[in-house]
Amino acid sequence: MNIGNVSGDESSLHRPEPLANDASVPHPADTQNAAIASRLNWLRAGVLGANDGIVSLAGLVVGVAGASAAQSTILTAGVAGLVAGAVSMALGEYVSVSSQRDTEAALLAQERRELAETPELELAELAGIYRAKGLTEETARKVAEELTDHGAFRAHAEAELGINPGALTNPWNAAISSAISFSIGAAFPLVAILVSPISLRVPITFLVVLLALALTGDVSARLGSAGRGRAVVRVVLGGALAMLVTYGIGHLLGAAGV
Ligand SMILES: [Zn+2]
Repeated sequence: MNIGNVSGDESSLHRPEPLANDASVPHPADTQNAAIASRLNWLRAGVLGANDGIVSLAGLVVGVAGASAAQSTILTAGVAGLVAGAVSMALGEYVSVSSQRDTEAALLAQERRELAETPELELAELAGIYRAKGLTEETARKVAEELTDHGAFRAHAEAELGINPGALTNPWNAAISSAISFSIGAAFPLVAILVSPISLRVPITFLVVLLALALTGDVSARLGSAGRGRAVVRVVLGGALAMLVTYGIGHLLGAAGV
C-alpha cells in the first residue's frame, strides 16, 4: 500500500521573507480615526440591537401564530414582547455603560490625586511614555513639560489611561439608542405578521425576517470589514432556526390545548 511520500520537497517549505512593516511611520490621523472608530461602534451597537429585535420578535410572534389563530393574541404578545425587549436592552446597556463609566471615573480621580500629590513623579511618568514611543530623552521630557503646561490632567488621562475625560460615554444615550434600535428591528416581524392575510402570515413573516436579517448581517459585516457572504448566511440561518423552533413549539402547545 502506497501511503505517499511524506518526506516532501524541502524547497516547498521555504517561505518568502515577510515584507518589512514600517511601524515607525507617524499616524497624524490617529485622533480622527478614534472619532470614526467610536462612531462605528455606535453604529455597530445599533445594528446588533436591531438584529436582537428582529430575532426576538420573530420567534415570539411566529411561536404564538403556531398555537393560536387570533390576530389579537399575536398583537398583545408582540407588543408586550417589544416593550419588554426594549426595556431589557436599555437596562442592560445602562448598567454596563454605567459600570464602565464608574471605572473610568475612579481611574481619572486617582490620576488627579497623583498629579496633585506627586507632580514630579507624574511628569517623569509622562516623559517615560513618550520615550517608550521612541522619542529621545530630551524630546520626551520637553513634550511632557509642554503637555503638562497645557493641561496636565488631560495629557495624563489620554496618554496613560487612553481616556478622553471630556468624552465619557453617557449611559442614558446608550440605553435609549439600544431601546430604539431593538424596537425598529422588532417592528419588522410584528408588522409583517399583523398585516398579512392570515393564511399566509407565517411564510410572509419568515420571508420579511430573513430579508431584514440579511440586511443587518450585510451592514454589520461592512462595518466590521468582515466577509459579507458568510456573515449574512450565519445571521439568516440563525434567524430561520429561531423561527422554526418557536413555530414548532407553539404548534405543539397549541395542538395539545395548553
Ligand atoms: Zn499620571
